[in-house]
Amino acid sequence: MNHPGPGESLSLGQRLEALGLALPQGARLLAVSKGHPAALIREAAVLGQMSFGESRVQEAIAKQAELADLPPLDWHFIGRLQANKARQVVRHFGTIHSIDSLALAQRLARIASEEGLSPRVLFQVKCRPDPNKTGFDPELLLQQWPELGALQPLQPVGLMTIAPMGCNAQERLALFGDCSRLADHLGLPERSMGMSGDWPEAVAAGSTWVRIGSGVFGQRATLPG
Ligand SMILES: *Cc1c(COP(=O)(O)O)cnc(C)c1O
Repeated sequence: MNHPGPGESLSLGQRLEALGLALPQGARLLAVSKGHPAALIREAAVLGQMSFGESRVQEAIAKQAELADLPPLDWHFIGRLQANKARQVVRHFGTIHSIDSLALAQRLARIASEEGLSPRVLFQVKCRPDPNKTGFDPELLLQQWPELGALQPLQPVGLMTIAPMGCNAQERLALFGDCSRLADHLGLPERSMGMSGDWPEAVAAGSTWVRIGSGVFGQRATLPG
């Protein structure tokens, strides 16, 4: 148990540098810091990594408070978003990747307007059926787009997708390509695609944000969703 995986012996700086060299222009690294302490985020920020992804609101807010002395970091919410956490997410994150329904988008728009904020938002799409993941079916997204794309003061910037477990590299390349084309069709510049295990295919298919956790920070002590 707990044998170091490949890359486990590299330092944080070496991993960030290697990813920086491997990612093509246009693909940025979102360092997924969920399950890791604020001290590690601080270390990454000192090395120049400014964009971080979190999936649990309370955990993220506590770490943001610990890091308040740093220059402002670019926080992205990537987790499943419960309606009762929407206000905290709007207050504490500049970008939200995981909008999975029209009702949630409407709620976020109302709250953002009350708060005088205009978060960048991405809509989570299920490019293949997946019982373990939430997200819009592409058909439904297209059907609801006239409303979704016009929800002031939200700034719709892109689509996010997660490859189902068990896909091979070729299948992932195809589904990431579908997500990219859907974003193109809607005129959205950002595609949040790819994690530690599949970012090369996501980047090949046009990802603009790779969400990498364990590949940057190592294994998480806990595994929040
Ligand atoms: C945890 C998480 C990631 C990062 O996963 P790794 O496999 O550690 O890179 C990316 N995206 C989402 C939505 C996540 O919840």
